[in-house]
Amino acid sequence: MRIDSLLSDNFRLTETQKKALKKLGIENVHDLLLHFPSRYENTADLKSISSLKKGDAAAVHGIITGLKTVKAFRKKIPMGEATLQDETGRIKIIWFHQPYLAKMIAENSSVRVSGKVAERKPTRPNGHSDRPALYFSNPKVEKIEIKELRSGVFLFGGKDRDYPLTPVYPETRGITSNWIYHAVRKLLKLGAAKEVTDSIPEEILKKYKLPSLRSALIWIHSPKKEADSLAARKRFAFEEIFFIQLRKNLDRLAWREHNSFRINKTEEELGDFIGRFPFPLTSAQKKAISHVLEDFRREFPMSRLLEGDVGSGKTAVAAAASYAIINSRPEGRDYGNLQVAYMCPTEILAEQHFQSFIEYFTYTGINIALITGSGCKKFPSKVNPRGATSISRSQLLKWVANGEIPILIGTHTLIQKAVQFKDLALVIIDEQHRFGTSQRQKLREKQGKIPHLLSMTATPIPRTLSLTVYGDLDLSLLDELPAGRKWPITEIVLSQNRNSTYEKVRSEIKEGRQAFVICPRIDEPDPEKELALLAKSAKEEAKKLKEHIFPEFEIGLLHGKLKPSEKDKVMGEFRQGKIDILVATSVVEVGVNVPNATIIVIEGAERFGLAQLHQLRGRVMRSAHTPYCYIFSDSKSKGSIERLKALKSAKSGFELAEYDLLQRGAGELYGRKQWGLSDLAMEALKNIRMVEAARIEARELVEKDPEFEDNPLLKERLSKEKSKIHFE
Ligand code: ADP
Ligand code: MG
Repeated sequence: MRIDSLLSDNFRLTETQKKALKKLGIENVHDLLLHFPSRYENTADLKSISSLKKGDAAAVHGIITGLKTVKAFRKKIPMGEATLQDETGRIKIIWFHQPYLAKMIAENSSVRVSGKVAERKPTRPNGHSDRPALYFSNPKVEKIEIKELRSGVFLFGGKDRDYPLTPVYPETRGITSNWIYHAVRKLLKLGAAKEVTDSIPEEILKKYKLPSLRSALIWIHSPKKEADSLAARKRFAFEEIFFIQLRKNLDRLAWREHNSFRINKTEEELGDFIGRFPFPLTSAQKKAISHVLEDFRREFPMSRLLEGDVGSGKTAVAAAASYAIINSRPEGRDYGNLQVAYMCPTEILAEQHFQSFIEYFTYTGINIALITGSGCKKFPSKVNPRGATSISRSQLLKWVANGEIPILIGTHTLIQKAVQFKDLALVIIDEQHRFGTSQRQKLREKQGKIPHLLSMTATPIPRTLSLTVYGDLDLSLLDELPAGRKWPITEIVLSQNRNSTYEKVRSEIKEGRQAFVICPRIDEPDPEKELALLAKSAKEEAKKLKEHIFPEFEIGLLHGKLKPSEKDKVMGEFRQGKIDILVATSVVEVGVNVPNATIIVIEGAERFGLAQLHQLRGRVMRSAHTPYCYIFSDSKSKGSIERLKALKSAKSGFELAEYDLLQRGAGELYGRKQWGLSDLAMEALKNIRMVEAARIEARELVEKDPEFEDNPLLKERLSKEKSKIHFE
């Protein structure tokens, strides 16, 4: 059997099945073998026949006899029938509409029967009614080997751990878990697992006691015991993380082969600029700036991640880095200056950073420009040296191309082909986890130089996840909040205390403050549908607040279905204080900076991860007024309320992200969909030792043997993947 042969060459498939398989991303034998069970059927349900009761979903081991096909008495439904026996009794099996099932099993086979236990009505018309008879209705039947089948004694339950676990696969309309189960069994029987090449070096498997690919495939699909399936899952999780690490380390190395702009600026030379900040830098900010300056002095491009909670002051670090760049001349010229591009995830944030940069740079007299989907602006304007003005896109592109605009801030429009820089030396990326290698490649300069990269994130993720997804970047942490920053007073509010909380909010707003109300998170696989549902719930919340709770206040609405111009308008009004309460969904504008907004109410808090709640409350710690965070939860579960209490003690989002991961699993990680990891690998992030092992092994391998001369199998797999990506 060829591992890359199409499934349609190995199975008879209907059109519906073909479509469904495609949807699951399964085309050939290899794909199917790598479609892993999401769980295994609970074997604790294994029962003896005498203990069965109507309505049970149960599994029984026994011997099957009396297999026949019949027609139901009155309705003429074709049925299959059989009897199952163990040492405690007998029970009938009936397959309605599926008589053929009775023909697929041999008389006297030992089997595992699992399914629903039903009860037949008494059949005698009058007089002595029969004892109601139990039967298995349309159960699943699998052959098993019961080794010690002596003198009618069967082994089941308790100590016998040798029965198979039944895998349950992710399915889709048209392809059931059961179909996949049988198809995989057939492939395994035909020896498909032998045909797969194991690309993890043997020493590594040995060192970490991981099963070979062949064993792992068999164990994950048909484990004889739980330990087998766990070992297999561990191997596949390791494999996924190991390969991510290999790719990241190759990227890391590849960047170092490129030339970048060598910039020699010292902390002292930045002193004047930084001295004008309205605050002293935290020592974490100072350290990050000196990391950046050190990177700039090298020949190859910086690849640095600046990680810090909301409010930790990343923008100031970005400004200092930009200052060093724009005060450097292009090589071999004694005029002009290098350029900076600052890319933001949304228009609102782009506008906000544009404003902050204007404040930081006004005194230098340089030009700063903004480019988004809805237009372009430039500072300073000719008529008003203190303000910005709208300019045409073509004018902006011209000035960027001839170097007259040293700093360009914008959304993703910034890296479109039309935007050509003269001497782009630094790219700053705010909260864009998906800014990958190929996007970075596009920013390559005409002379072949690659600009430095400073990527910034406030998304609180656990260490294992950042080691995995940011394996190609060097890390600077802003793990210290600016002095005098007040943590929000956080209260967990249960439904009976809603009204008194609303009263507190009312009195703060009367004092002149403003509030955010965040609507519950909605998990919906289709992102469009999710946006629509969120928009709906936000509208309803705004209406409720206006009609029943805060009729005297101005209430605004912000959600992902609004056009950028509408969002701008709402944010503008909120900033100017025309809106008292902004009802928003959690997906929009995490970084929005409105100092007078000091209250945040979060609805349906149990649906958020702790780290995300923490990030949301970060929006209200930007002024001298005491901030408040009210966490509303209608959850009845004690555990979930306990969990929320961690917010009162924890001091950083990263701490809470770790807590989420360990307590509730990877499902709770903020934005889990965006990391591009399988569920298996996400779960494996709990295992710090494994993630570190994968990272260390990958780094060592790449450093010792970057061309993989000694590991041709690795080389082959990586280059195959690469050509696949390029093809897409
Ligand atoms: P973030 O890390 O979330 O991007 P910002 O850069 O937006 O944070 O900074 C948040 C606020 O803190 C801004 O108003 C900024 O001016 C202020 N800030 C930054 N650094 C300091 C500091 N060292 N001391 C006091 N305030 C600071
Ligand atoms: Mg920011």
